Amino acid sequence: MRKPLIVGNWKMWGSREKAKNLVAGIVAQDSDEMVDWGVCPPFPYITQVLEQVGCDRVGAQTVSADVDVPHTGDVSAAMLADLGIRWAIVGHSERRAERGESDGIVSQQLRCAIEKGLTPILCVGETFEQREQGNEERVVRSQLEVALAGAEANWPLVIAYEPVWAIGTGVVAEPHQVQAMHAMIRSVLSNLGISGGETPILYGGSVKPENANGLFALDDVDGALVGGASLDSEAFLAIIEAARSAKAA
Ligand code: PEP
Repeated sequence: MRKPLIVGNWKMWGSREKAKNLVAGIVAQDSDEMVDWGVCPPFPYITQVLEQVGCDRVGAQTVSADVDVPHTGDVSAAMLADLGIRWAIVGHSERRAERGESDGIVSQQLRCAIEKGLTPILCVGETFEQREQGNEERVVRSQLEVALAGAEANWPLVIAYEPVWAIGTGVVAEPHQVQAMHAMIRSVLSNLGISGGETPILYGGSVKPENANGLFALDDVDGALVGGASLDSEAFLAIIEAARSAKAA
């Protein structure tokens, strides 16, 4: 297993007080250098979180696909880089579905992030219907190929395989489904000229302390992008601990 990475995606949850307590709860107990971790707070709390935990542990939940244009409400990669933030999530299925972010837009977001020195966390994943029709590999392959067209071997990158049907549903993908998809993603990355063996590939979709051990035991799973369970410091720490145990095994 590459160095495991556990990233919490807080989505649109929290308050100043909750963010402070959540991060304090994680920092108070985490002493484990074998596992890398970070959190992606809502934009209004990013500054306070990075002051508390350091910018190396903070990501943004999205980033603008544009540079120097008058877009009300958008946040540019340059602004995130100015704060020293490490990651930017791009292509999350909620933004693809609800904000119309196509593969082409995701590709632009990813390039903006990389250009400013951020590491994109590129989310890919199929819907329930696409899997029912046997199209899951085709869909994920295409998402990767469009987003990463013309990629350079040294691009900083994290991939998160997040089957849409597993996000926030309590239904976690079966280990054989996860392993098969992660292995395919690794080979697509290699074919695109990206170091497939080095790129962390996270699983996301209803990861909880109860199912984390089974997921992290899989050869091609390097950690997790965690939604709901990242809002509870004990649960988030238990997931970090599961990654540590898998690494040590
Ligand atoms: C997510 O939104 O990226 C996610 C994985 O959510 P959850 O863990 O709640 O399924």
